[in-house]
Amino acid sequence: MPPAKLDHLYGPAVFGEREVESWWRASAPPMAHAAAPLAGEVRCDVAVIGAGFTGLSAALHLARDHGRTVIVLDAGEPGWGASGRNGGFCCLGGSKLDPAAMAARHGADAARRFDRLMIEAVDLAAAILEEEAIDARQTADGEIELLHRSMKPAAMRAEAEAAARRFGCRTEVLGRDDLAARGLRAQGAHGAIFVEKGFGLHPLRYARGLADAAIAAGAVVHGETPVLGWREDRGRHLLATPRGRIDAGAIVVAVNGYHPRGLRPRAETAVLPALSGIGVTRPLTEAEIAAAGWRATTLAYDSRNLLHYFRLLPDGRFLFGGRGGLSLDEAAREGWFRRLRRDFEAMFPAWAEVPFDYRWGGFVALAFDLVPHVWRDPGDPGVWYAHLYHGNGVAMATRAGQALARLVAGAGDPGLPDFMRAPPPVPPLPALRRRYLQLAYLWYGATDRGVLPGINLPAALARFLAR
Ligand SMILES: Cc1cc2nc3c(=O)[nH]c(=O)nc-3n(C[C@H](O)[C@H](O)[C@H](O)COP(=O)(O)OP(=O)(O)OC[C@H]3O[C@@H](n4cnc5c(N)ncnc54)[C@H](O)[C@@H]3O)c2cc1C
Repeated sequence: MPPAKLDHLYGPAVFGEREVESWWRASAPPMAHAAAPLAGEVRCDVAVIGAGFTGLSAALHLARDHGRTVIVLDAGEPGWGASGRNGGFCCLGGSKLDPAAMAARHGADAARRFDRLMIEAVDLAAAILEEEAIDARQTADGEIELLHRSMKPAAMRAEAEAAARRFGCRTEVLGRDDLAARGLRAQGAHGAIFVEKGFGLHPLRYARGLADAAIAAGAVVHGETPVLGWREDRGRHLLATPRGRIDAGAIVVAVNGYHPRGLRPRAETAVLPALSGIGVTRPLTEAEIAAAGWRATTLAYDSRNLLHYFRLLPDGRFLFGGRGGLSLDEAAREGWFRRLRRDFEAMFPAWAEVPFDYRWGGFVALAFDLVPHVWRDPGDPGVWYAHLYHGNGVAMATRAGQALARLVAGAGDPGLPDFMRAPPPVPPLPALRRRYLQLAYLWYGATDRGVLPGINLPAALARFLAR
């Protein structure tokens, strides 16, 4: 039974921020359909907790493709969580295990299956935008990794060729001069690898469009409806919200980094929530863009472990994101936004005087075995989960929601590698999860600065804890 009020590993303040002050929220049109809070008693085949990409994609596919009656509930408005706050990189990703480690741990076939899943995820998001006429796409295909350390040209070529083979797309190696010529000049970039897969979108437009599509397919979506109580009675699930009750045959838990304490402790303690922060400038002038030498709208990130992600938006604003801190209290928030700002100015000194008009943060979710999971607890029938996308869930959560819908409907192979179907590991002493994260940040920060060798100790430790 969850508590009467939503609480979280980072405290109840996580759910206190009702209106997120993001650029996306300032620039997204409202939903076409209403998502009013639930009032009264309702019955359905499947209740979905969480109206982000995971829950909304599950609802769309369950209603449209499998004919189920579905009710989606969110504590905030649809897209209130990470889905409406992210960088809008609809890209390959979802795991923090590098390909060699994934093949060594789970086998080469499973690693290849995961590569295919990442491609399917991007293609599925693109298809939904197209088929459901959601006006959220913002860039052409492609994403670029800027190298924060120099790399031998042969090694760069080998990496680009490996990516081309894995993802079946064009890749390109760019030297420092190429970057300047392409309008991708950032301080400290030694070159880059371009992969022509993935695209940029407006995440809240996508989330709201997905909610509208799910409603059009027959699902019911209720915003401002936190699930505060949950009990089981003769194989049915009875959910309590402030002004209503739902009687459902199955539950999809789609809360990712926003898993409240007590909702489902087995699943919650497997999640390591981590904050990511974003700043968005005012629209840059032509002169400012020319002074910095960054004029491409290509999605970009750097090669650090604690990476930065950035992109020029269609109206000339610049979005810059990176890791947040370990606390939401005011002083800590100011501290991690100061660090974000310092990193932004170091990479783009020409914009040192250009303020951020908007800055906000949100939770991503990490797993102790470093891979996403779509699963059911054998001891808890009728309850399904999809989560743990490691800060790369725009595409992967969409695909995981589709897989969940197939699983809940018993509609055949969801096309996932076996390791994703297993319950995610719970670390020893889960109450210390924020401490584990703090240690990982210290280690990664030091390796990024070249103070420590490039051994991925936190990843090795996480895998050890996950045994
Ligand atoms: C700042 C930031 C930048 C990011 N950038 C990118 C990016 O560029 N590209 C990328 O691929 N990924 C990015 N991510 C990650 C991506 O946004 C997430 O992986 C993805 O949105 C997860 O979707 P979700 O539906 O699983 O969870 P969320 O969108 O987080 O939704 C979970 C929902 O559950 C609801 N909830 C929780 N408890 C309850 C309850 N008891 N009752 C009702 N509702 C409840 C919450 O209100 C919330 O809306 C970023 C994340 C952040 C925070």
